[in-house]
Amino acid sequence: MCCKLVEITEIAKPQNVWCSHCTPGKGCGIYASRPSECANFDCGWLADTSLGDDWRPDRARFVITREPGSGRVFLVCDPAMPAAWRREPYYAKIKASLARPGAERTQIVVTTGRKITLLVRGGEYDLGEWDKGDQIIVNFDAAGRLANARVLRAPPRPAATAT
Ligand code: SF4
Repeated sequence: MCCKLVEITEIAKPQNVWCSHCTPGKGCGIYASRPSECANFDCGWLADTSLGDDWRPDRARFVITREPGSGRVFLVCDPAMPAAWRREPYYAKIKASLARPGAERTQIVVTTGRKITLLVRGGEYDLGEWDKGDQIIVNFDAAGRLANARVLRAPPRPAATAT
């Protein structure tokens, strides 16, 4: 499922399109020489041994990954099943992860195509749509309650000039 849902810039594979190197039932056809983005992909299902086979991305229909640096968790959903993460056993466990002690500022961002939803303790927030290069800005108050959240648009690229 990551070979469909995740953009791989090294081979110009767009998001939400199956990779041309992916062989159904067999996996990556260029495994030994796959792009570093694939080799280094941080799959949350593989990383978290508490997640059973139900959470395998091809069954769950979403991929879990962690944003480097921020620790923000992303659920990248298959647009063919955008509400997959709201099914059980997923939804209850996602909500429980936000309720556990110490998770006051935990952020889970659900992306389905360009649409993003922010989950924090205390609520779900539709942040609209985002594009490549946009940033998600989230601030909490001193008590760990969400203060504000928004998408900061990437500056427009300068127009190409003739030489
Ligand atoms: S190169 Fe291989 S691992 Fe990477 S997206 Fe394509 S099929 Fe998947």
